[in-house]
Amino acid sequence: MKPIGSQPGSTTASRQLVRRLLTWFAINARDLPWRHTLDPYAIWVSEIMLQQTQVKTVIPYYERWLRELPDLARLAGASSERLHKLWEGLGYYTRVRNLQKAAQAIVAQHDGRFPRDFDAILALPGIGRYTAGAVSSIAFNEPRPIVDGNVIRVLARLLAISGDPKDKAVAEQFWSLAARLVATASQLPPVALPAGSLLQLAGNCSVLNQSLMELGATVCTPVNPRCPDCPVRAGCVAHQTDRVARFPQTEKRQSAARRRFVALVIRRGNKVLIRQRPAGVVNAHLWEFPNVELDLQETDPVNAASRALTLKLTNVSGLGAVRHSITRYRITLECYRANALGRPPRGTGRWTPLTQLNELAFTAAHQKLLKRAGLGPT
Ligand code: SF4
Repeated sequence: MKPIGSQPGSTTASRQLVRRLLTWFAINARDLPWRHTLDPYAIWVSEIMLQQTQVKTVIPYYERWLRELPDLARLAGASSERLHKLWEGLGYYTRVRNLQKAAQAIVAQHDGRFPRDFDAILALPGIGRYTAGAVSSIAFNEPRPIVDGNVIRVLARLLAISGDPKDKAVAEQFWSLAARLVATASQLPPVALPAGSLLQLAGNCSVLNQSLMELGATVCTPVNPRCPDCPVRAGCVAHQTDRVARFPQTEKRQSAARRRFVALVIRRGNKVLIRQRPAGVVNAHLWEFPNVELDLQETDPVNAASRALTLKLTNVSGLGAVRHSITRYRITLECYRANALGRPPRGTGRWTPLTQLNELAFTAAHQKLLKRAGLGPT
C-alpha cells in the first residue's frame, strides 16, 4: 500500500486506503447508542454533545435527552430551565441554546423535518462546517467531509502534513484531503456489516467519515498510538519514517492561568440564597451561589466577599475548596457556610426552597459545592 500523497492525481492509493478504512470500521466500530439510528435529529444531538466532551460522558446525557425530547418538535417547545437541566454538567451551554434555536428554525422553515440539503443544514444556528458534514454524511450518506481533532491527527500522520492545523491554509489541506477520501468512498461498492451487527450505517460516506474519527479515537491516539493494530500502517508516512510523535504539528497551548473565587452558602430556614448568571457571560442562565473573584494575594476571603456583596455575615464556617478547570483557567472556589443579617441587596440572589434545587441547572463548580454543602445529589 502506497501513501496516498505519493501519487498526486492518482486515485489508486486513495481507493486502497478508503477500502481498508471501510472494512476496518465495519468490523471494529464501537457499539455507541447514536450508531443505532439514522434519524438526523438524534445524530445531530449526539454530534453537538460530543463537541469538547468525551464519549463515555456523553452516553447517559444522550440517552436521557432522547427519552425526554425524542423529536424536534419537543425540543423546539421545551422550557429553557428544562434544557439547561438536561445539559447540566456538559458545559459550553451556548450549544444547548443553539440546539433549540435550530429546532425552532426547522419547525418554522422546514415543516419540522430535518433538512437534507447541506446548505440548509449549514444555515441553522450553531451548525458549522463540521456538524453539517457529520449529519449530512452519517444520516444521509452525502459525500461531505468532516475534520475534527481525531481526523486531523490521523491524516497528519498518514501524510506527514507539516504546519499548525489551526493555520487557515493548513486547515484547508485537511478539508480537501477529507473531501477527496469521502468522494472516493462514495464511488466504491457499499461496505457490508458483519452478520448480527445492530449498527445502522447510511452507506460508505457515513462509514468513511466515522472510520477516520474512530481510528483517531481508538488506535491513532495522541500518545502511544497502536500502529501495529492500524489498518493503514503500510501507507502511513509518519509510521514508515518513524516520525509519528512529530504529527500533527499543533502549537503548544498556553499554560493554564489560576483564578480564585469565594462562594457563600447562605441559608434561611429551608431556603438558600442563589442567583442566575445573566445572558452573554460564560455559563449564562445557569445557577450559582453568591460568589466573587479574589485577588490571588487576598488573605481574608470572607471579608472580601462581605465587602463585595455588601452582606453582613455571621456564623461563618469553612466548607473547603472546590477545584475546577474551564478552558484555560484553573479555578479554586473557596467555600463557606454563613448566615446573613438583614435583607441581601438586589442582585445577590433569590431565596430558593431547598426542594427546588434539583430542578435548576448549576455550573459545574457550584454543582460540586451543592454536594459539599449537603444540598445536592450525593
Ligand atoms: Fe496513526 Fe500509526 Fe496508523 Fe499511522 S500507522 S495512522 S501513526 S496509528
